[in-house]
Amino acid sequence: MKAAIQTGLRQIEMFDIDEPGLSDSTAIVRTRVSGICGSDLHPYHGRAARQKAQDGHEVAGIIEHLPSTYTGPLTLGDRVAVDTVCLGISCGACAYCQSGQYFHCVEHREPPPWGGAFAQAFERRPAGLFKLPDSLTDEQGALVEPLAVAVHGARWARMKPGGSVAIIGAGSIGLITLIAARAMGAGPVHVVARHPHQAALAMELGAASAVVPEKAMDTIRAATRGGVDLVFETVGGHADTINLAWDLARIQGTVAIIGIFPDKVAVNLLRPVIRELWATFPICYGIIDGVHDFEVAIDLIASGKAPVERLVTHRYPLSDTPEAFRVAADKSTGSVKVHLIP
Ligand SMILES: [Zn+2]
Ligand SMILES: [Zn+2]
Repeated sequence: MKAAIQTGLRQIEMFDIDEPGLSDSTAIVRTRVSGICGSDLHPYHGRAARQKAQDGHEVAGIIEHLPSTYTGPLTLGDRVAVDTVCLGISCGACAYCQSGQYFHCVEHREPPPWGGAFAQAFERRPAGLFKLPDSLTDEQGALVEPLAVAVHGARWARMKPGGSVAIIGAGSIGLITLIAARAMGAGPVHVVARHPHQAALAMELGAASAVVPEKAMDTIRAATRGGVDLVFETVGGHADTINLAWDLARIQGTVAIIGIFPDKVAVNLLRPVIRELWATFPICYGIIDGVHDFEVAIDLIASGKAPVERLVTHRYPLSDTPEAFRVAADKSTGSVKVHLIP
């Protein structure tokens, strides 16, 4: 089968690799649509060594094989969204799995070597498969995972109905956080967007304002009389967006940091103390109040409240993955979410 493997810095090549073998512990899913995530772009720019197996964790597909021991509700041919990075590779037995916090599964310290969804098929534990309603398109199905990240962020940060929100960053995670916040009943949502096409899309998706970072503090503080209840930082990388988050939150407000900071950063820690902020660091998804974030995300899309498909700006056949990554990495192309179709 075809798979897209990174072989060097900003270098992705198509390979013919073996189909996943039939196993008594894993399901095989035939990929229908997969999406390129911002977190796929960090290694795209930073990984020089050839990777062992393909990435790809935003995916909708069709179940082609289930273990003979499987007794759950899924059947062959079901269309599913797949949690490929937490539940799909979790042991199911450790204390974290037992409490629904699959990201922290002890088995993830040495994860299985299975490749991801930048291929025609892949294998995962069946617990990570979530059946899609017929009303969802494959494209919407591939957006369940990034929406679940945003849903988890809002739930973990205890976002309140009607509360004011600011989102720093208007890439695909920032904009999908806007969609999630609006769908989950937030009050006015202000977006800090670097690029004009991102700001325009944020306004179309119902943002109360969309401003460049340099104007964010004055504009958002004026609009909210001193700051918002909840700030999402979705950019990562450098200290300035964290420092801005402290300034956009109201006194005793909350900052949820979703962006990834691979290197140490020197942040201002006097501001959050003086303002007595809550800070939290939601990651991936899991079970909160008995419901998995994927299930919440699927319901929000099915209800029509979360128009995630509006984020898809580019679609490529899987064989054009190298070009798809170039476009996803170059925001001057107007790319937000880039999808691959095998
Ligand atoms: Zn992702
Ligand atoms: Zn576990």
